[in-house]
Amino acid sequence: MHTQLTTDRTPGIHHITAIASDPQKNLDFYTRTLGLRLVKRTVNFDDPGSYHLYFGNELGSPGTILTFFPHPGARPGVQGVGYQTATAFAVPTGSLPSWAKRLDDMGVRVIERDTRFGQPLIRFADHDGMQLELIETPHADHLLSWKDGPVGAEIAVRGFHSATLTLGELQETADVLQTLGFTQQQTEGSRTRFIAHPTASTHPGEPIANIIDIVVDPDGQPGRLGAGVVHHIALRANNDAQQARYHARLSAAGLGVSPVRDRNYFRSIYFRTPGGVLFEIATDAPGFAVDEPAPALGMGLKLPAEYEPLRSRLEGTLPPIHIPTTPGLATHHHRFDANPNSAGTLILLHGTGGDERSLLPLGRKIAPTADLLSPRGNALEGDQWRFFKRLRPGVFDQADQAVRVRELAQWLAAAGQRYAINPQATAYVGFSNGANIAAAMLLRGQAGGIKRAVLIRAMVPGDPMPGVDLRGVRVLMLSGKDDEMVPVENANRLAAMLTEAGATVDHHMLDTGHGLVKADVELAMAWLGKEIPAALPHAALA
Ligand code: ZN
Repeated sequence: MHTQLTTDRTPGIHHITAIASDPQKNLDFYTRTLGLRLVKRTVNFDDPGSYHLYFGNELGSPGTILTFFPHPGARPGVQGVGYQTATAFAVPTGSLPSWAKRLDDMGVRVIERDTRFGQPLIRFADHDGMQLELIETPHADHLLSWKDGPVGAEIAVRGFHSATLTLGELQETADVLQTLGFTQQQTEGSRTRFIAHPTASTHPGEPIANIIDIVVDPDGQPGRLGAGVVHHIALRANNDAQQARYHARLSAAGLGVSPVRDRNYFRSIYFRTPGGVLFEIATDAPGFAVDEPAPALGMGLKLPAEYEPLRSRLEGTLPPIHIPTTPGLATHHHRFDANPNSAGTLILLHGTGGDERSLLPLGRKIAPTADLLSPRGNALEGDQWRFFKRLRPGVFDQADQAVRVRELAQWLAAAGQRYAINPQATAYVGFSNGANIAAAMLLRGQAGGIKRAVLIRAMVPGDPMPGVDLRGVRVLMLSGKDDEMVPVENANRLAAMLTEAGATVDHHMLDTGHGLVKADVELAMAWLGKEIPAALPHAALA
């Protein structure tokens, strides 16, 4: 069956799926330490009582996706013959010293430094003993990583480099790989390299995830599935027609191949090689944005239609996991517009339907020399971003608001360290829903030591936390007499509530509606110039 195919080659690895123990440790390791993005949180379609977590680049592109079935308390497996025994990621040339330091700082021991087929690599393991490698790869820096992740783009993981299978003998699995269009390349010791679609190397940025190495170890210990062991490796099919041709070809070669299964994010067939390794062939389409928008990947628990009726039961029985809210973990997409002349910062909070860019022009106008930190709200309403959910206009989901305020406060605390923000020279500037969450942060006692706020068209976000102390807090409230969203009575009630809690409130009722007007700009600029003059010299002169 040495069919040498010149066309119809698989482009390489689609995803790799392994067993893990603790889902929280798994999530933390792959997002925080390795800097992969959680691109999907769903359940094992064949066992909906357990999670299926997907990690990848910004978009979860084929060739970047590492997935886990975490089972709390799962016993450790054995990396051995008949299994994929190492998973290697591509990182930019020259990045390994930084990686070694990062791993060491985070308490992960580098097991080995080596060179393989001329490329430097380091080897380490996750908390379950899963064997991982980072390999310096030419062109890796052209590839997409997770741009808001905790690892700088200059070293971030770009997807898979290769997978290593450890087998008792070479030929049977080599034949299968060649059937799918891999070509056998050089050998180094007991390791033989197979490359998918080598012609793609003419494109800068490619190839990625196109290497499978087979290490032959005839006397090695047999592997056993368990925590830290790869369950299966999926190769790519460009489309359903190509997948059907592979199905026919593999069946003709005598392999038992499953029917096509719909995995929501791709369609799959499965077969086991004579060497013992479980393979899958997965289509590139439809991808992970099929059930949540790309910016929100991984945020919700996603279920296939057949399990949707079980949602409340599954949410009650799946182990709770906390999606970390450190900045850089993209819990808030944001812009930080640094000003070299400034010691002051505006935290800009947009209204419904805005995003992290919406208030930057306003911020520049009212504080020309300030740094601007502008997060995007995480609550989706239709396709519009907000900072917390509402049940209907003007009626807020208080439970959601409590969680969102806490998350934003945690994120701001960490962002404050990252960007060296001085709370004494910082003001919140919120418009509409952004003003409401700023008011909620003040009234819930979660303003993070920031004592200045400009609230434009704000309304009462909910009851204040009992005993909240806002002494020393100064607020400029800009309301509209003809605001179609915020009744005058409501705006006055918020001003009274803040005053009651100890804040000094300067409340202007403008002759206008809900939209921003010139008077907002002028009043905000004058107030900021007075309140934080050291940080905002230009505003002070205005
Ligand atoms: Zn799979």
